[in-house]
Amino acid sequence: MEEIKITRAQTFKEKPDPSTLVFGKAMTDHMFIVDYDVGQGWHDPRIVPYGPLAIDPAAKVLHYAQEIFEGLKAYRTADGSIQLFRPLDNVRRMNDSAARMSLPQIPEDLALAGITELVKLEQEWVPSAKDTSLYIRPFMVGLDAALGVHSSHHCQYIVIVCPVGAYYPEGLDPVKIYVEDQDVRAVKGGTGMAKTGGNYAASLRAGDRAEANGYSQVLWLDGVHRKYIEEVGSMNVMFKIAGKILTPDLNGSVLPGITRRSCIQLLKDWGYEVEERRISAEELFEAAENGTLEEAWGTGTAAVVSPIGELAMGDKKVTVSNNQIGEITQRLYDALTDIQWGRAEDPHDWIMKLC
Ligand SMILES: *Cc1c(COP(=O)(O)O)cnc(C)c1O
Repeated sequence: MEEIKITRAQTFKEKPDPSTLVFGKAMTDHMFIVDYDVGQGWHDPRIVPYGPLAIDPAAKVLHYAQEIFEGLKAYRTADGSIQLFRPLDNVRRMNDSAARMSLPQIPEDLALAGITELVKLEQEWVPSAKDTSLYIRPFMVGLDAALGVHSSHHCQYIVIVCPVGAYYPEGLDPVKIYVEDQDVRAVKGGTGMAKTGGNYAASLRAGDRAEANGYSQVLWLDGVHRKYIEEVGSMNVMFKIAGKILTPDLNGSVLPGITRRSCIQLLKDWGYEVEERRISAEELFEAAENGTLEEAWGTGTAAVVSPIGELAMGDKKVTVSNNQIGEITQRLYDALTDIQWGRAEDPHDWIMKLC
């Protein structure tokens, strides 16, 4: 791998107060960039001062959304060291997303070095207050300056990082979810399994509508039958029904979440039966009405787990776990965050120690 050239910033920003961190706003002093050109491959990996990118107004990403991204965190442990959680899973998923969006494959060691070298350089930015971390956002864009609809010959892989606070500063708070019946997030054969910006653009309207009606997220149904549950907001979703854990299977339109995968492993370790299969909204509401829906929660890197306290579909409304955090939801949150912040053993080798 080509050596990463480092150009240090001349001025340094003031680090934000960890108690007032707003998710994704306080970017650090540096960023990682590497270029790709057809015929040349990946070249010129570098860390440079954080700042605006110069992009041609005709660049593909601005018109045709040729973009993919990842999200992971660096955690500071009690002894002051810094570690990552399953970073290679993010790198591999990025290459899966790249394949879907006609972006180039990036060597795993290069994509990972962009993350690890930037975090090491910015290590003073990794906060140490409880539940805070450094959020890492790698992304890849197609940059050819031509309006023809083709995949790009010139691309960049970029990593930016920012300190983030606890997702729920007042503790895990159950959220109200609306079952979206107009828009769909993804369809089979579409881009649902890829972490690509366009999926988010297409989801904003439903999110805005839900919020205007007093709900914090939407529950997405499949795009073909509009019957089967796929995800909740930008998280995967799990249910405990009659003692069993159910989660939608990875059918091509569900994003293969790393938190989802980790929760399934922990649940199996604890002896739960986990079924990955099609779950209809009807089945879910029936379970709620006959009292067998015991818990519901979303999973994702940003919030870890997010308890669902209320579900609404049309004019039907049900409460889950008495609008309290369920036992398994809390146990998953505790187990995952204990591993991530180094407070517990790491039996599955999920942790990569950095410095
Ligand atoms: C990123 C993402 C998730 C969660 O993935 P994690 O790897 O657990 O963070 C779930 N759904 C969507 C749509 C996502 O973009």
